[in-house]
Amino acid sequence: MTKGNLINFKWRQLILSLGCLLLFIACNNSYPNDVQPLKVATDPTFIPFEIQTASSHLEGFDIDLMNAIAKVAGFTIQFESLPFDGMISTLQAKRVDAAISGITITAERLKTIAFSRPYFKAGLAIAVREDNQNIKDFNSLKGKKIAVQIGSTGADFAKTIPNAKISTFNSGSEFFQDLLNGNVDAVVSDAFATLYAIKNGKLKGIRVVADLLTQEYYGIATPKDSPHLDAINKAIATLLSNGTYKQIYQKWFNTEPPQLPDS
Ligand code: GLN
Repeated sequence: MTKGNLINFKWRQLILSLGCLLLFIACNNSYPNDVQPLKVATDPTFIPFEIQTASSHLEGFDIDLMNAIAKVAGFTIQFESLPFDGMISTLQAKRVDAAISGITITAERLKTIAFSRPYFKAGLAIAVREDNQNIKDFNSLKGKKIAVQIGSTGADFAKTIPNAKISTFNSGSEFFQDLLNGNVDAVVSDAFATLYAIKNGKLKGIRVVADLLTQEYYGIATPKDSPHLDAINKAIATLLSNGTYKQIYQKWFNTEPPQLPDS
């Protein structure tokens, strides 16, 4: 190699190295959310909010909403299945970035984790066997045998019923089976999930008492001081105003969504 060629070669090498360095910086800085997927916990037993299909595919209202949020916010998502009861402590320990699982925003939970703006208007209802005529409201639950899901708002509510004998279960399919078997008189759980199962023929022999016991809102839960919460909230606002939320709501519930509060 002549002296001139050698200098030329070194310049080319330098320019190439600088180019690689710039490309590296650009890739690392402009879309950090694309590089690190957001770990999102969900309990796929809460139908139709989260469902695991026979081929282990996740679907449901929450799953569609979370995927739409990710698209708007520029996140990629990695869902992780977790039992509902362990979700709050997993968030506290920051083992996941967020959780979507029909989680009701409560003052108690806000002490240890954070929530997005409300994304779903919900409430607790009493479910009984179809032939049961005596349980009509809160007062008629006194002293009765009641099944609830561990760690749920239904379980908290049941504690306020005087003299109730409470059985706890891990998922809806278990407590409804207990109700059908005649082991308990009623179930206190989220109205929408129960009504959906009845309407779709998945829950035979059970009816929901008309009046809701509570009014609740679901939020996407994150650890406190999450760096992702702001982007999640902005994305929910976008989906509410651009019609995507309504589209997802109608897909799963076949009706117009109700108005949601901002916070
Ligand atoms: N909404 C209820 C709660 O937050 C139950 C949710 C669920 O079972 N996934 O406690």
